[in-house]
Order: sequence, then structure tokens, then C-alpha cells
Amino acid sequence: MLVLESLLGGRWVSGDGPGISLLNPTTEAVLATCDTHGLDLAAALEFARSQGGGALRALTFAERGALLEAASKTLHAEREALIELAVQNGGNTRGDAKFDIDGAIGTLMYYAELGKSLGDRRFALDGPVENIGKGGRVQGWHIRAPKQGVAVHINAFNFPAWGLAEKAACAWLAGMPVLTKPATSTALVAWHIVKALDQKASLPAGALSLLCGPVGDLLDHLGPQDVVAFTGSAETGAKIRGHQRVRSVGVAVNVEADSLNSSVLGAGADDASYDAFIRHLHTEMTQKAGQKCTATRRIFVPRDRQAEVISDLSERLRGVVVGDPSRDDVHVGPLATREQQRSAMEGIARLLEVTRPAFGTPGRGAPRGVEGERGFFVAPLLLTAEDARAAKVVHDLEVFAPLATVLPYDGTAKDAAALVSLGQGSLVASIYADDRDFLEQAVVELAPWHGRLVLTDGKIADRSMAPGMVLPGLNHGGPGRAGGGSELGGVRGLDVYTQRCVIQGNGPLIAKFLGASAGEG
Ligand code: NAP
Repeated sequence: MLVLESLLGGRWVSGDGPGISLLNPTTEAVLATCDTHGLDLAAALEFARSQGGGALRALTFAERGALLEAASKTLHAEREALIELAVQNGGNTRGDAKFDIDGAIGTLMYYAELGKSLGDRRFALDGPVENIGKGGRVQGWHIRAPKQGVAVHINAFNFPAWGLAEKAACAWLAGMPVLTKPATSTALVAWHIVKALDQKASLPAGALSLLCGPVGDLLDHLGPQDVVAFTGSAETGAKIRGHQRVRSVGVAVNVEADSLNSSVLGAGADDASYDAFIRHLHTEMTQKAGQKCTATRRIFVPRDRQAEVISDLSERLRGVVVGDPSRDDVHVGPLATREQQRSAMEGIARLLEVTRPAFGTPGRGAPRGVEGERGFFVAPLLLTAEDARAAKVVHDLEVFAPLATVLPYDGTAKDAAALVSLGQGSLVASIYADDRDFLEQAVVELAPWHGRLVLTDGKIADRSMAPGMVLPGLNHGGPGRAGGGSELGGVRGLDVYTQRCVIQGNGPLIAKFLGASAGEG
């Protein structure tokens, strides 16, 4: 049996407990085990701080960018092997697997390029210089200095490759070492990535550590310069924020949690915008079997178009085949774990108290190429309700499965925005409209509730991407129940790993040792 070791203190090690099994969610076969019991996590953090942190901070942005480029190329060379592991351990179709793995490769490369453009500095300038008093000699220069701790990355089960890479890219470019902890159930892909990076990417010792299995007492050993970047459920996010050590030493915490993302069909949507709306909904419901934090869960349509939208989306969903994701003729694989399947079925039962099925039958369906009742399948399901406000649970409960709910509104941007904001803060909302007043009002009303708004009008409808696609140059995160975190967004992604500090004093002298020209700030 394959044992997934952890990379701690520069060595591959395993715990001394009975081990946790990682399954193939299609066949339920055991693929590997891992264990973290008894591992010395305090020493692992100290090794990363002293060895990895020191080495990364000594590099310029351009040099850190070169490391990211090597990491991206290493993953590219492992692409086929990673896709195969994602199909086996994640229940991904090949398309789902590529979405995760190519996202990882592309994000590392994006930050490699950013590193090149930031050049020979070791920390970034943060906005224009502030002149203090008369004469212009006394100034304040704001900088962002890399923190001297470890970036602890705790990831969700759904994006084992991208989740690891998007966080690591920002931390490494900022100058912080990474200890990455994938979700145990789908850790095979992350383990393979770290093995490959450790063997082939020439990272400095301690720049990358891996904890493969439960988190154990890791948080008890964090210090004030460490950072926790977490992606997962709101419940675990709250536990981390409330952790006694995290609070007492003031560990910086970034939380990306669950989200009830919306898609709004707005006023005056022309045919091209409407087609993009339906096309994107189909993608968001089926890609990764609906297990995306950015997947659309709530679909708001003018009341007089509710039947038309249900009919057109159902037409698309009719062609979707659920089953063994290793087959080319299957579009939707199983959920990642039995627990996810159980939780999705419970969630569907709660949604059905206030909605009715508009397409599909609640349940596992008849998965193609699968033996008997094996596998953690949930068939695509479109729900609907007549009174969007009364369907409270739709705005409260994230069901992580291939499903969404169509809800009517009165056709005004004000009503749409009021309903969308019942989701209490989301990662993304998308608006499809060709009426400029509608779009403008929607942006004003919805921006405070979201980390990203995607506007699609007829002029860009053929080029607009489905809203679930997270791009490295654009902000990812959301307020309220989405966790209040912020990742990526180009150079903004380095913020969580750096300390803003203003250097106040003799301006020309400060500019000199910052390597800045006097006029640059
Ligand atoms: P989860 O159960 O909260 O687990 C997430 C991670 O936290 C796993 O690595 C887990 O490790 C770890 N963990 C569990 N208990 C912990 C504790 N007490 N202290 C520290 N870490 C702990 O979430 P999930 O089921 O993997 O992910 C699904 C959720 O993630 C969904 O709600 C989804 O919306 C959200 N998500 C959000 C985003 C985003 O960017 N906003 C992206 C993807 C997913 P073990 O696996 O070892 O238990």
C-alpha cells in the first residue's frame, strides 16, 4: 500500500498512528494511506522559518520569480501523471482535472512573470511617498516587508493542485516559506506535486514543507510572524480564527470559505448575453461535479422569463452523463467522499422543503460504467421556487454538488441586488444584461457584497468566461460568509504575507537604501 509521507524539516516522514485511507470515490478502492500522529510539527515550523525563510528573503523578486518558473515547468512535466491521480483520487473527469492542474501551472507562471517585472528589490514599495512638513526632505516611504514566519496553507479537498499552487506562488514571491496541508481525502495530487518539486525544482531547503494528513497540534506552535491561509468550510475557518494560540500571538489569518454565488439575468439581455448566461450556468453546475467554491448556486431571473430559463437550461442538462470519470463519454464524476455525498443529500432534502425540482431527480442517478451502488454520486439537479424571499434556506445553505436553484425577481436591479445580498457575502456574482442603467445600478449595489463581479453584455458575450474561473491577476475572496479573505489579484496577493511598514525620516537616504529613485514613490 502506498504511504503518503510528509515533508517536514527537510525529510520525508510518516506518523506512527494507524493511518487514514484515501479512496477512489468511483470504486471505493483504497489508494493510499497517510498519518501525521506523533510528528514534531514545532521543529518542522522552526526549520521552515530559519532555513526556508532566510533563503527566500535573501532573493530578489526576479530570483524568486525564477523559482516559480521552475516550479511551473516541473508541474507541467508531471501533468499527465497528475491528471491520472486526480481522476483516481478526486473523482475528476479529465476536463475537471485539467481545470485544477493547468490552473496551478498557469498561476505559478503568472507570478513568475510578476516577479520578473518587480525586478531586483527584496520588498515592494506601497504607494506614493508622503512628504511631511516643509522642504520635502522629511518623508514617509511605505513598504511591504516579507514576514519572517511560515505561510501555513490549509486547503480544501476540491482543488488539491491549484489550491496549493495559488497560495504558494504568492507566499514565495513575497519571500515566505510554505507549509502546505492538503485536505486528507484528496491529498494524492498534492503529495505528488510536492515530491516532484522537492526532487526537481531546486527550491531552497525549507521553502516547501508538506503535512499529509490531519492538522494535529500544528496551530499550537505558530508564532506572531506566521500566516495561516485557509480554504474550506466556514465552520473550520471559524475554529482556526478562534484558536487560542492563533488569537493570543496575533497570527494573520486569511479565510476563503463557502459561498452562495449568484447569476443574474438582467434587463434587456440580448440573444448573445442570454446564450452566455445559459452556457455558463451549464458549466458552473457540472464542472467538478459542482464542487467549486465559485460555482453558481442561485440563479435570479425576471419572473416572466423563469419558465424559458428552466426550459433552456434543462435542455442542456439533458445531455449530461454522470458516471466513471475515467471514461471519455462521462461529463460528471462522483463527489470526492462519502461524507460529501451524505452532506449533499441532506442539503438537497432541506432545499426541497422550500423548492421543487425543475430538472432531474434527487439522488445518485444511474452512473455510467459503475458497479451497483458503488461510488459517491449525486446526479445534477435544478431546483426552483416561486417566492425567492420565502425560500430562506436557498440563501443560507451551500450544497456542494451539481445543483442550483432558479429564483424569480421583479426585473429591477434593486430587487435583484436585494435578493443576491441575502447570501450574506459571496465570492462572485455574474450579471448578464444589455441595459447600461441596470448594469451600473447592479455594480453599485452588489460590489460591497462580493470579491468579484462578472459583467457580460452582448459585445463581449462570446469571449466572457464562466464566472467560476479564478484568474491570478484578479482578486479572489469575498466578504461575510465567504470568509472575508483576499487572495491573488496580481501583486495584491502578496499582501497577506507581508507587513506594511512606513519608513519615516530623511527621504533621499531612505530612497537610497530602498533602491528607489527619489521620484519613484
Ligand atoms: P473543511 O472540512 O473545512 O476542510 C478544509 C481543510 O481544513 C482540510 O485541509 C482539513 O483537513 C482542514 N481542517 C479540518 N479541521 C481543521 C482544524 N480543526 N484546524 C485546522 N484545519 C482543519 O472543508 P472541505 O470539506 O475540504 O472543503 C469544502 C468547503 O471549502 C466548501 O464549503 C467550499 O465552499 C469551501 N471552499 C472555498 C474555496 C474558496 O476559495 N473560498 C475554495 C474551495 C473550497 P482534513 O482534510 O485533514 O480534515
